[in-house]
Amino acid sequence: DATIEVRGLSKRYGPTTAVDGLTFTVAPGRVTGFVGPNGAGKSTTMRMIMGLDRPDAGTALVGGRSYRSLRTPLCRLGALLDASAVHPARRARDHLRWLAHANGLPVRRVDEVIELAGLTGAAGRRAGGFSLGMRQRLGIAAALLGDPPVLMFDEPVNGLDPDGIAWMRGLLRSLAGEGRAVLVSSHLMSELEGGADHLVMIGRGRLIADIGVGELLDAA
Ligand code: ADP
Ligand code: ADP
Repeated sequence: DATIEVRGLSKRYGPTTAVDGLTFTVAPGRVTGFVGPNGAGKSTTMRMIMGLDRPDAGTALVGGRSYRSLRTPLCRLGALLDASAVHPARRARDHLRWLAHANGLPVRRVDEVIELAGLTGAAGRRAGGFSLGMRQRLGIAAALLGDPPVLMFDEPVNGLDPDGIAWMRGLLRSLAGEGRAVLVSSHLMSELEGGADHLVMIGRGRLIADIGVGELLDAA
C-alpha cells in the first residue's frame, strides 16, 4: 500500500526540539503539501521517514514498514532530500546508471527517468556544472528510478524558474494521478498553490493543520 504513516514522531537535537509529537498520513492518489516556516521540522521529519535520523519517540512507516526494513527501498519510496548529494565529477546519466545498477534496477529505466525529469539535453554533463534547478531535476530522476508508489520531495522548487515550478506542479499532479502518495515540502504556501490537494502544516515541530485544500478554501 502506498502510504506514509507518521505517528507521534519526536526528535531533539540537544536543547532544540526539532519535531514534537507529529502525527499525519500521506495518502495515495493525492499530493500532500508539507508546509511550515524554515526550521519548523520538515527536513528532520523526512529524514526520519527515510531512517536517516533516529526518532526519540514515535514511528514512521512506508507502506506499513519501516524504511530500513525494506528489501528494495528504491522501489518503495523515492526521495529528493538534498539536491547537492551527487559527486560533482559524475555525469548525470552515469550517476543514474550507477544507482540503477547498485539497486538491481533495469538500465533502460535510466533513459525513462531522464526524460521524466526533463534532463534529456543535460544527461551527458557533469553534475558539478549543474545549477541548483538542474540538480533538483537530477534528484527527481533518481527518486523516480525504482518506479516507487511513494514519493517525498524536500523543497523541490528551490532554484527552479517559473517554468520549472509549473513543470514541477504538473509532474506532482501526474504522479499522484497514477495513484502514488506524494509528500512535497515548502516553506512557502504559495509554491504549493495549484499543486497540493491536501496540506499538513507544522510550526516548531508540531502539527498546526491537516486539511484538504478544498476544505481550506471553503473555510476562507
Ligand atoms: P525545516 O526543514 O522545516 O526547515 P529542519 O527539520 O531542518 O526544519 O530543522 C528543525 C530544527 O532542528 C531547526 O531548529 C534546526 O536548526 C534543527 N536541526 C535540524 N537538523 C539538526 C542537526 N543535525 N543538528 C542540530 N540541529 C538541527
Ligand atoms: P520489500 O521487501 O522491500 O517490500 P519486495 O522485494 O517485496 O520489496 O518488492 C517490492 C516491489 O518492488 C516489487 O513488487 C516490484 O514491483 C519492485 N521491485 C523489486 N525489485 C525490483 C527490481 N529489481 N526491478 C524493478 N522493480 C523491482
